Amino acid sequence: MTIYESLGARAIINVSGSSTRVGGALMPQKVVEAMSLAALESVSMTELQAAASRRIKQATGAEAGYVTSGAAAGLTLGAAAIMAGLDPAKMERLPDTTGMKNEFIISREHRNGYDHSIRLAGARLIDVGMNEQVAGAGVRRTEAWEYEAAITERTAGIAYVALPDSQPPLPRVIEVAHKYKLPVLVDAAAQLPPAVNLRRFIDMGADLVAFSGGKAIRGPQSTGILAGRKDLIASVALQHLDMDEHFDIWEPPADLIPKDKLIGIPRHGIGRGFKVAKEGIAGIMTALDLFTHGVYKVDMETYRRYLEAIADGVSGLPVEPRVMPAKGEGFPMLHLVLDTKKIGRTAFEVCRDLKRGAPGVFPNEGMLEKDTLVIHPMNLSDERVEAVARRLREVMGKG
Ligand SMILES: *Cc1c(COP(=O)(O)O)cnc(C)c1O
Repeated sequence: MTIYESLGARAIINVSGSSTRVGGALMPQKVVEAMSLAALESVSMTELQAAASRRIKQATGAEAGYVTSGAAAGLTLGAAAIMAGLDPAKMERLPDTTGMKNEFIISREHRNGYDHSIRLAGARLIDVGMNEQVAGAGVRRTEAWEYEAAITERTAGIAYVALPDSQPPLPRVIEVAHKYKLPVLVDAAAQLPPAVNLRRFIDMGADLVAFSGGKAIRGPQSTGILAGRKDLIASVALQHLDMDEHFDIWEPPADLIPKDKLIGIPRHGIGRGFKVAKEGIAGIMTALDLFTHGVYKVDMETYRRYLEAIADGVSGLPVEPRVMPAKGEGFPMLHLVLDTKKIGRTAFEVCRDLKRGAPGVFPNEGMLEKDTLVIHPMNLSDERVEAVARRLREVMGKG
């Protein structure tokens, strides 16, 4: 019986990747051990975040860093830091941004469900560009001049979502932003691997970059990393940490919070509800260490073997299995192309039936429109491979 069954929830197998709704990435034993040890000792959270900042600085090349409760929280805190700076009165007012510079320019192509996190801080998103390629109405993507044309006295910064083919290229957007002394906040939540991306956007000059801790870094699901400019990270810390302190005897580490630059300390800020546990920080710092030292790379051969075993397990079914080799440092994937006529159900229905079973099997749903179930290997084990193959046979054998 799994821990979740003993709590009254169903056992499932997550073959969709690091998706949050099915628990994110499973953690390596070393990360779990670090979290257990952290749970048995007390620590000053300010000093622990300062220590984490130094490690994030090393791993990313940024001036400073901070552990957030996920990349989404990193976006909220980053937007709040950009708008409030080191002004405690502004920190106390958020998300009310009346009269403050509160606009973030974003390409229409970059709009997505997570930009709610930026708006949550009180920011307004100003869309630029068109979605011509998706609309099939043109060949051009968003261009750097369109950001420049949208800058006004209300502009606080630029929001950018980094994907391998994001346009315009980040360096062009940074060039425009910095010409007007505006910071660029980058959502790079799922841009690891490759590990070089930890440094890449910072090297380009991005002012704040948010990564997920619970995706390929394999840290706790509710952690993330925010890396960037020291003054902005200081503002993040002030709006996130528990601020029930007496200013006169408060001694935050100077490399995280420059107390001498503050007229006072705000009370609990907009980030107080995005609490990060000491166990979470110990976990993500351990996972980051494993990730940056290439410890996970050795798993890739095992992943390919798992996917081939599942492909073998569906032979004879009305399914064409295609093992897709890993691109670069990415994961290999298994595409199961369904013959929905023979099965007598749509890919959506097959997927639903897989999720309903015991154990529930949750594939990646990104290609269901193309009659394809995508199997991501990161959370598999020999036992789970067998269970997945069995469930696929049960669900598709019935026809
Ligand atoms: C996953 C993801 C997020 C959210 O990350 P969390 O760490 O789960 O908060 C934000 N933006 C993008 C593009 C993502 O893929």
